[in-house]
Amino acid sequence: MFKHLKQSVSIESVLHDKGVPPLRKRGHQLVGSCPVHGGDNPNAFVVTPSKNIWHCFTKCNGGGDVIDLVRRMDNMTHYQTAQYLASISHTSPAPSIPVKTQGVKPAFKPFTRNLHLNCEIPWFKRKGITGKTASLFEAGLYQGRGFLSDCIAVRVHDLEGCPIGYAGRRLIDHQVRKYGKWKFPPQLPKSRILYNFHRVRDKLQKGLFVVEGPWGVMRLAQLRIPAVALLGINLSNEQQRILCKIPKIVLMLDGDFPGRKAAKRIHDKLKNNTVVKRINLNINTDPDDLQDHQLTKL
Ligand SMILES: [Zn+2]
Repeated sequence: MFKHLKQSVSIESVLHDKGVPPLRKRGHQLVGSCPVHGGDNPNAFVVTPSKNIWHCFTKCNGGGDVIDLVRRMDNMTHYQTAQYLASISHTSPAPSIPVKTQGVKPAFKPFTRNLHLNCEIPWFKRKGITGKTASLFEAGLYQGRGFLSDCIAVRVHDLEGCPIGYAGRRLIDHQVRKYGKWKFPPQLPKSRILYNFHRVRDKLQKGLFVVEGPWGVMRLAQLRIPAVALLGINLSNEQQRILCKIPKIVLMLDGDFPGRKAAKRIHDKLKNNTVVKRINLNINTDPDDLQDHQLTKL
């Protein structure tokens, strides 16, 4: 059984199934950051497709075949690994080496499986987000392996509310103000997403808050204030068309320099079509740093 699976399921199809960003081609090998220990070094993890083996040259300092990979990424038993690989071998096409063609981005593949996230963590409490809210928003600490390991992750949906994957930030020492950059699934069509739009689309008579990230949305949701996040500081044409139809927009990006600059730019894009109120926060302040009484006064 194992021998057959070892040969019939490629490492690339496992990585793809687990939502790991595609590796880069380098000669006869594929390289990328290590999905086993989850580091950031873009050359740590090397796959040899012709032999269907992998090696991590940094933290793991080891490697193996496709079975070793699944066992180490998911902490599975032999039997569970066999079942998992069998399920992939029936559903995935023949292994292929992703070739990076210049200018053509591989299509985005939604990730629809549920990840188990721990919502009851002190980090949320310190952010002013209740466990109930975190659970409602499918947000929490991801304790598995892979691209979201040790991240506070949150589920992302398309405009219709279909789940399409998870985004997350790695925690550093579990401190509120120390974390890595946001990680998004590869090729996530951010320009066609307004985070949380599907939950508030029928409640926009009084207006809509627009912030950069999910935590601000959650804090406002606790106060029954409808909000969406751009997942960054760019406003796409598609997002602009949606926001222009809403009678009033309250634009509250982060108080840092890029946030302020973006808020001015976005304000200019929207002001001819809708009423826009722009809130400039202090330099080191994000919307989720404000107290509830400050948020309700805006
Ligand atoms: Zn590693």
